[in-house]
Amino acid sequence: MIDWNAMSDDAFRHEVRSFYAEHFPMHLRDVIGYYTWAQQRDWYRKLYERGWAAPSWPREHGGMGLDASKLLIFVEERLDLARGPDFGGLVMLGPVLMKFGSPEQKARYLPRILSCDDLWAQGYSEPGAGSDLASLRTEAVLDGNEFVVNGQKIWTTWGLECTHMFALVRTDKSVKKQAGISFLLLDLKSPGVKVRGIRNLTGQEDFCEVFFDDVRVPRANLVGELNDGWRVSKALVGHERLLIGNPQHCQRALQRLATVARSQGLFDDTGFLDKYTQLALDVEDLAASYGRYCDLARRGEPIGADVSLLKIWATETLQRINEQIVECAGDYGGSNGLLPFGSAGVDVLHPFYISRPTTIGAGTSEVQRNIMAKFVLGLPS
Ligand SMILES: Cc1cc2nc3c(=O)[nH]c(=O)nc-3n(C[C@H](O)[C@H](O)[C@H](O)COP(=O)(O)OP(=O)(O)OC[C@H]3O[C@@H](n4cnc5c(N)ncnc54)[C@H](O)[C@@H]3O)c2cc1C
Repeated sequence: MIDWNAMSDDAFRHEVRSFYAEHFPMHLRDVIGYYTWAQQRDWYRKLYERGWAAPSWPREHGGMGLDASKLLIFVEERLDLARGPDFGGLVMLGPVLMKFGSPEQKARYLPRILSCDDLWAQGYSEPGAGSDLASLRTEAVLDGNEFVVNGQKIWTTWGLECTHMFALVRTDKSVKKQAGISFLLLDLKSPGVKVRGIRNLTGQEDFCEVFFDDVRVPRANLVGELNDGWRVSKALVGHERLLIGNPQHCQRALQRLATVARSQGLFDDTGFLDKYTQLALDVEDLAASYGRYCDLARRGEPIGADVSLLKIWATETLQRINEQIVECAGDYGGSNGLLPFGSAGVDVLHPFYISRPTTIGAGTSEVQRNIMAKFVLGLPS
């Protein structure tokens, strides 16, 4: 087994770049946003066979075991920027199981997450519990050796494609909200589970509603202690929080803006030049800020609450660039699909649509600003 960390940074970067250049399929290169599993499966298989499916997982569990520095290089060089249905298991649940799972849970689930035989959805949000997640009401009542689950989750990304869900459920109503929550593993094929797609702006059913009607779940599927799910769910894989601030999304959007603007002759327009320069500087700011957090991660220093700034800046800048692309596209601004701009094809509307929810998922911009106000600026709640 190769010890990637023993390689020089340059050699490792070259290795990742070459592998992607040679193997990453052309039809996925322009996918922005979400892959379907059917689109992604073959490519994923290639990564898996190479041993590159889980860059941050320890080698004992089949990961690459990359240290912070190598992990950041991998993130910078990888071309598959869009999130796929493998995300829930590989990025979210896997590390939680490694920390809190029983030996049986680790042995049973981790290999199937790695091979993507099981695809995991995240079941946190509910109609009455989003930003205020601790208000969740989906209930799990112990009955012998099983929980009986009733309730509803919403905005479950990939609910229709995933085979399993890790969910936060209420197991004690008599205590403080956070203290009565447990972390449960559910098979989405269990009797009593109903998954319904929600059509979004792009016309796809990326996320879903999931209903539970007397669903029986083995007690062995509880991760961590009963009523300790809040702590389990807070287990963060430090460096993954950085992924969201990766400037590549904005850098590519800026390239698309330049392509559209060039073909429309807009670089001769001083009004446009002002806007473009501002956006280009915003992307530079993002890249600089991202680099600063990466340096912290490389040195093994903690990443503080101020990382919220990165999420706000990355997502809001992405929205601003995509709005500008639509404006510059003129008559094409309302058309779907790849459109000709000069010799290049640019999809104008799809990236615009999918940039909209980025300021909502993984903590809204308002909530991130609250975090900054409270924990960084020390303002009162
Ligand atoms: C693309 C996408 C994918 C998602 N995938 C998943 C998934 O796989 N699994 C899952 O469980 N969830 C998922 N979510 C849900 C996501 O976690 C929630 O949308 C998010 O937590 C916000 O909750 P909400 O939608 O209920 O909005 P609410 O919390 O109801 O917020 C509504 C508005 O009020 C504002 N607001 C709320 N509280 C405050 C406050 N204290 N101060 C100031 N303003 C406030 C918010 O910023 C927002 O503008 C996804 C969401 C999106 C957009």
